[in-house]
Amino acid sequence: MREASKFEAMLKTILISGCTKGIGLAIVHKFAGNEFNVAGCARNQAELTELFKELSVKYPNQKFFFETCDVANKDALKDFAQDALKEFGKIDVLVNNAGIYLPGMVQDEAAGNFELLMATNVNSAYHLTRAILPLMLNQKSGHIFNICSTASIMAYPNGGSYSISKYAMMGLNQVLRAELKNKNIKVTAVIPGATLTNSWDGTELPEERFLPASDIAKMVWAAYDLSDTANVEEILIRPVLGDI
Ligand code: NAP
Repeated sequence: MREASKFEAMLKTILISGCTKGIGLAIVHKFAGNEFNVAGCARNQAELTELFKELSVKYPNQKFFFETCDVANKDALKDFAQDALKEFGKIDVLVNNAGIYLPGMVQDEAAGNFELLMATNVNSAYHLTRAILPLMLNQKSGHIFNICSTASIMAYPNGGSYSISKYAMMGLNQVLRAELKNKNIKVTAVIPGATLTNSWDGTELPEERFLPASDIAKMVWAAYDLSDTANVEEILIRPVLGDI
């Protein structure tokens, strides 16, 4: 790994889970376009390599660090966090984004769905935050975005364990906000409705029923880019036509 230049070291850094597709990828592009270094993870090595190449060519003066990691695996997640912390002395923004969607109802969803969704969508955010927080507390600054969902605030048939995991994610967000408000670390819940990403592969619904992922990224950037004393607590955004 090459040494960071002085310019790279001066830049701010965002660390994001699930950086290669959908909402995570849109956030990566938004922050990289605003001179951020980026640390990210996903499971697919080839997609991480492609993203690294693309960003390194587009933003040659910024630093990018990507590593494969299944966020449902606590030990792998901790390794990723430690490796990222070694690369960047400072993390300014943490985005707990990685998540999967599996439909079903509590009474008949596949055995194991609950454990998988909780591990991937919630436990990952808890453990990644615990790995990064000591640095932010030491810095006395930071901004944590938790990618929740309208399924975090409203139950619906066939939401099953996905919705349970997203309510829990909102719980994590609220606890962090209460714990960190006197530590100069901002906490924001991002609550999108249906967003056109790989999560919806195979849908026959028209594009107009969805939000574009780039709009979520714009809102995250806008919430980040405020004065030091402002904390946007919730970004709730739905398609004009409402929930699906
Ligand atoms: P997506 O397009 O499927 O992208 C998910 C990203 O996370 C990919 O980079 C994926 O890469 C990574 N990922 C998935 N599972 C992972 C794991 N176990 N370990 C590491 N990385 C993993 O999903 P999305 O729709 O953008 O969703 C992102 C977040 O937004 C999720 O938390 C989701 O619940 C939330 N959300 C989505 C919608 C929506 O309608 N799309 C609405 C509200 C909230 P790999 O597959 O290579 O690992």
